[in-house]
Amino acid sequence: MTSSYISEELRQRVRVTAGDRCGYCRSHQQYLLTPLEIEHIIPSSREGTNDEENLWVACARCNRFKSSQIEAVDPVTKEVHPLFNPRTQKWSSHFQWDADGVVILGLTPIGRASVEALHLNHELSIAVRRNWVAAGWHPPSE
Ligand SMILES: [Zn+2]
Repeated sequence: MTSSYISEELRQRVRVTAGDRCGYCRSHQQYLLTPLEIEHIIPSSREGTNDEENLWVACARCNRFKSSQIEAVDPVTKEVHPLFNPRTQKWSSHFQWDADGVVILGLTPIGRASVEALHLNHELSIAVRRNWVAAGWHPPSE
């Protein structure tokens, strides 16, 4: 059965497991004006399921840029790599914050490809993060 239905109980469980942070840019719900979205790691358009192991949360911005992508080109190696999987991979194994805590640096081909594909360092995101840093809200410690 293919269904777009995801129960509120499952949505809540995914939000809690994700720590109420976007799996990609790590923005916390308490600093966002729009709700974190339940996203499909493998997109529905690519036969991704509504099973818990295929769901995570993303901010509206990351989810929009991710869209139906599952892989992207690493700008360093010029090879195609899978996008970061926030459920099975550790963010800090693939990314780190720059010294100012505002720019996401890709540490691996997966990290670099994901930074590019999801526009994780758009100028608006950097401008907002600078304000979060000034307020003492950012970057996240974990
Ligand atoms: Zn995000």
